[in-house]
Amino acid sequence: RPTIVLFTRDLRVRDHPALAAAARVGGPVVPLFVLDRAVRERSARNRLSYLGDALRDLREELRRLGGDLVVRSGDTVDETMRVAAATGAARVHLSFDVSAFAARRAERLREAAADRRMEVAEFPGVTVVPPGEAVPTGGDHYKVFTPYWRAWESREWRAPERAPKRLELPSGLDAGSVPKRLADSGTGPLSPRRQSGGETEARRRMAAWLDADCADYEHTHDDLAADATSRLSADLRFGCLSPLELALAAREHPACGPFVRQLAWRDFHHQVCAAFPDLAHRDYRERDIAWRSDDSGFAAWCEGRTGVPVVDAGMRQLLDEGFMHNRARLITAAFLTKRLRVHWKRGGDHFHAVLSDGDIADNYGNWQWVAGTGNDTRPNRSFNLLRQSRRFDPDGAYIRRHVPELAEAAGTEVHAPWRAEQPPTGYPSPLLDEDG
Ligand code: FAD
Repeated sequence: RPTIVLFTRDLRVRDHPALAAAARVGGPVVPLFVLDRAVRERSARNRLSYLGDALRDLREELRRLGGDLVVRSGDTVDETMRVAAATGAARVHLSFDVSAFAARRAERLREAAADRRMEVAEFPGVTVVPPGEAVPTGGDHYKVFTPYWRAWESREWRAPERAPKRLELPSGLDAGSVPKRLADSGTGPLSPRRQSGGETEARRRMAAWLDADCADYEHTHDDLAADATSRLSADLRFGCLSPLELALAAREHPACGPFVRQLAWRDFHHQVCAAFPDLAHRDYRERDIAWRSDDSGFAAWCEGRTGVPVVDAGMRQLLDEGFMHNRARLITAAFLTKRLRVHWKRGGDHFHAVLSDGDIADNYGNWQWVAGTGNDTRPNRSFNLLRQSRRFDPDGAYIRRHVPELAEAAGTEVHAPWRAEQPPTGYPSPLLDEDG
């Protein structure tokens, strides 16, 4: 009897433990993706655009192996059960995932499958080290990164899986189609310079990164204008790349150590989210902060019109590309939560509505970290915006790239145009007194 492999955000055929195990069972395999109504409605259009590319690419890859991707729309559990009834499937395989939605989905799937005497098996693949595998003495989860990193690094990782050699699809099954204009629905803008997706492209990006750029990461990753980070975050978010395969390959390059450490940060936030699934909604560490509503300040921040160039550059990069440099994410999030005192949840929701790599664990975990309600051991860290701007964009090239009103700003005035004798026309004055 067939095995259904329910793809979610693991859109690849290489190092896919759930798929590899299904192929090992023998018999037909039904690779299934359900465009879940609930997910689709609240997904960023940039992510839906990436998802469309990734599904088309996955279908090609599966066809090359003799299979296909079966696509359905509706509720994931209902549709999976419908396909199970049509094919007489004996089991469902899927990758273990951490968000509250994913946990509920797995639970509902298990309940529905039990009624049909089907097995549900969850596999690793979304992180390098599965949540729950690296745990502190006394159990639970790691709340601080450095001890997690030590445990993460010293663990023996599983061996990556090869893509199956051949897949057999049950006959008579309508494969369904990937909607052409998936990104017509969803939230946020469709960014003109958003990233395209899929395993083929992700592997090309990974190879280029490991061959050439990863070695300089330690020295260039914070340089805003150099734009010298991997840009693999959306590929990891959708599982078009196996994080394990990437970490193993990067570990082979001695100079890539700092990059591998960032992959551990990703796993860290995932194990936090697995233990605290409300990460997107509630303070991880409750703190008494006097948040302000400041709707007009929030709107100016979203539009990149705060009058603080480095903040505006980051916010405009986000709208233009569906991506923002990590250093700019830190600066813009600190500006919103520490200067304007607007709640981290509003900022996190805006990011989540635009980012191609928007991910519950990484997005809200980082927002809470910046806001001081998360896993930072120094939650009251002070953050000098102008110092950050001069340090990480010394020539102002990042600002000039994203804020055309400042393209001609002279010298260092680009960081603080309100100090210029003749402030540039068309650029707002700062919302707050940045010299005070
Ligand atoms: P690189 O510097 O090349 O890093 C390699 C990979 O490591 C990234 O692709 C990512 O998977 C992981 N990584 C790096 N830094 C972090 C980090 N601090 N936390 C978790 N993982 C990390 N990352 C997301 O993938 N999705 C998000 O929704 C997201 N939201 C964020 C919100 C805020 C406020 C902040 C401060 C950071 C956020 N990050 C998020 C983390 C980080 O900014 C991005 O992963 C990174 O900028 C992506 O670019 P890159 O792939 O070129 O990163």
